[in-house]
Amino acid sequence: MQNVSRIVAIVGRPNVGKSRLFNRLAQKRISVVHDQPGVTRDVVHAEVKDGAFTLLDTGGLGLTGSDTPALITKASEQQVHFAITTASVILFVVDAREGVTALDDRIAGMLRRSKKTVMLIANKADSGKEKIAEIEEFYRLGFGEPFYISAEHGNGEAEVRNALLEKLGPVPAPDERDKERLNICFVGRPNVGKSSLSNRVLKSERLIVSDVAGTTRDAVELSFVFKTKDGKEWPFRLIDTAGIRAAPKLSSSVEYFSRLRSLEAIYQSDVAFMVLDAMDGVTGQDKAIAGEIVKAQKPIVIVVNKWDLVHEAFRSNLPGMKKYKSARDFRQKFEKAMFDELFFTPGAPVMFVSALTGHEIERMLRNARALNRRLDTKIPTAKLNAAIIKLADRTPPPAIGGQRFKIYYATQTSTRPFRFKVFCNQERSLTESYRRYLEAGLVKEFELDGCPMHFDLVGKK
Ligand code: GDP
Ligand code: GDP
Repeated sequence: MQNVSRIVAIVGRPNVGKSRLFNRLAQKRISVVHDQPGVTRDVVHAEVKDGAFTLLDTGGLGLTGSDTPALITKASEQQVHFAITTASVILFVVDAREGVTALDDRIAGMLRRSKKTVMLIANKADSGKEKIAEIEEFYRLGFGEPFYISAEHGNGEAEVRNALLEKLGPVPAPDERDKERLNICFVGRPNVGKSSLSNRVLKSERLIVSDVAGTTRDAVELSFVFKTKDGKEWPFRLIDTAGIRAAPKLSSSVEYFSRLRSLEAIYQSDVAFMVLDAMDGVTGQDKAIAGEIVKAQKPIVIVVNKWDLVHEAFRSNLPGMKKYKSARDFRQKFEKAMFDELFFTPGAPVMFVSALTGHEIERMLRNARALNRRLDTKIPTAKLNAAIIKLADRTPPPAIGGQRFKIYYATQTSTRPFRFKVFCNQERSLTESYRRYLEAGLVKEFELDGCPMHFDLVGKK
């Protein structure tokens, strides 16, 4: 089952004007790296006209001027292969003046065999007066009469756009699966393994849908369905982040924008995976990033990546490992030290995983789904009250200026994030430590691990 909803790919040999055409049809361009066997390519995505379709340009193959014809052929074929597997309509661009080359013929062959809907675009027909190759040449490719356009000047653009929309048909209503699709993102400092984890979940052999779902605002989204070992299908949307940096480290506008983009991703997610490196522990930068997620009031799953390296370190008796009795001991100490630093994320689920070996990847996704379900918990007022009163009795809120502080009762006012209205005898805010005490107590009582919560205090008038 391949979900190929409304993805349009532009293919063709180098220099025919694919990027130019992409920029004409796209409203915004964002780049993301997909590494396919052999060639590392840049796939550029854009969402066109309020989600009418998603445009994909695989043209940025990283080829240099000195590439051999054999390499160019191989790279172009891989690009066409990628388009065939992901797109529902393919725009095949050729050069109207140069006519059909051997490479064009090869690409056409692949496209014909794919049985995909193909639109042939003969570009660089700028004025209509320049010498154009014989139309028979283009007919021979097997896709009918070409659309003559000038990506440079815009001639023929409207015709291509209209024909494309006609081939795509009306925008379908969002399907049921999309409603339960969980938005996730991997955030963390450079080199902790965010890209590797993304690739691991996307390229899992259990991955059955690879629907490159375009972009909203500034982050790239990739929709996929993860098939579990016992055959369940879990739909996700991965919001890709280019990398996040802690604010004080910002030195250039590039970093600034990449950080903004990460924040966008965090805000668009239902659950954020905070990625740490098992060999590094928690750094100041990690702390700052976790702080951003908490500020956005998003639930966190802490993902301690490169677990394989910890086992490796034990096996090879690295001196640094002497202080640990076992991998399990390492894990417990890591967790303890981590929560000392990330004290503001109480109850966040912690996973020790390996993007390299795939260790615990399924459980990591399972945790995110469970966490997401918890976000909708509605706590009956009576139960909430009983819990709050019990917590306040056990450890009363600190008195201020000799005046006792009393909590009367509380109600839940929202989910995602949880908000609780707390009625008390004074109009003031909770101390940070008492707020954390209440939060930890409620997390434990109602099994809300990892869910952010907010307390609004209402004093007696
Ligand atoms: P790609 O390698 O297929 O992505 O091709 P590009 O979009 O980078 O274009 C290759 C070259 O062709 C660039 O120098 C463009 O300026 C030029 N080009 C693209 N479209 C047109 C067009 O419609 N008319 C003319 N005259 N040149 C074009
Ligand atoms: P990012 O900057 O956070 O996206 O990190 P990358 O995914 O690019 O990974 C940084 C480096 O760590 C790369 O050399 C990866 O191969 C390596 N790496 C990532 N995940 C793992 C893992 O689980 N185990 C090991 N041994 N190496 C990993």
